[in-house]
Amino acid sequence: MKCWKCNKEAVIYRKFEGKAWCGEHFSEQMEKKVKKTIRKEGLIDKGDKVCVALSGGKDSSLTLYLLNKILERWHDVELTALAIDEGISGYREESLGNAKKLCKELDVELKIVSFKDNFGKNLDEILQEDMDIGACTVCGVFRRWLLNKASRKMGADKLAVGHNLDDELQSIFMNYLKGDMNRLVRMGANPPLKENDLLVSRIKPLRNIPEKECGLYCLVNGIEVQEDECPYVNDSMRFGVRDFLNEMEKESPGIKFSAIHMYDNLLPILREKFEGDYGSLNKCRKCGEITNKEVCKTCKLAEKLDLDIKTTLSV
Ligand code: SF4
Repeated sequence: MKCWKCNKEAVIYRKFEGKAWCGEHFSEQMEKKVKKTIRKEGLIDKGDKVCVALSGGKDSSLTLYLLNKILERWHDVELTALAIDEGISGYREESLGNAKKLCKELDVELKIVSFKDNFGKNLDEILQEDMDIGACTVCGVFRRWLLNKASRKMGADKLAVGHNLDDELQSIFMNYLKGDMNRLVRMGANPPLKENDLLVSRIKPLRNIPEKECGLYCLVNGIEVQEDECPYVNDSMRFGVRDFLNEMEKESPGIKFSAIHMYDNLLPILREKFEGDYGSLNKCRKCGEITNKEVCKTCKLAEKLDLDIKTTLSV
């Protein structure tokens, strides 16, 4: 199949638009799309310090790579990266190696923050204890807490995460299925931020890019990424929703774009109606970090797991 624009060999055929693209034109389009998301959603402002949450996987590596490329001309925006070492042996070593390599190539400063230094144990050690809490729950709660706290200590104004179109849609559907209005109204490329010094605003530059295209861009542009899955991955609801959406996309190409577009149209109405009920933010009584309860999820979980949270963050 030939590229619709230049007649070179194509690397992708998009069924919903009925066109094929070569590596060069596919990459060019992807960069334009990400730029458009940044501009349209107002993700980055002049003078911002943007910190990329980098795992070494394809989405976060691509986020860093593209932001570095796009922000090249924005002389007043600083780009840094932050990686969390959860301590998953046989898995995290390779992804952290890729993260370090990419940051070195792009000349971006990288900070690595570990579970072990901040919670006293790494994820492998925590999971060795007999318990009924899923690995991803522990990992997700502790990682979000560390990402916010560490990026704030690094002076970041924005924390860029690698959520792509598929991740975002899956989360929207899951929140809907779980009836979690709190999370549902806080999604979007640039989730609403209540004035609060403790919270670093999360941005999602890849939110309009399908997962497959993220992988293809890395391949075409020689970005080395971790391809193995985490040994603990076991999110059955997400897998179910993912398979359902992929099946729908196969039957009706372009349906993922329509679904996210529909959500974006509904979001202002949902926020107007519900955000006030769910938007209150407090300082955790125990650790002083942000929460919408009296004690944050991280402190509750640490107590359950008999872990001591280090009050001084090791960055
Ligand atoms: Fe953590 Fe689960 Fe992701 Fe593994 S799959 S890195 S345990 S959230």
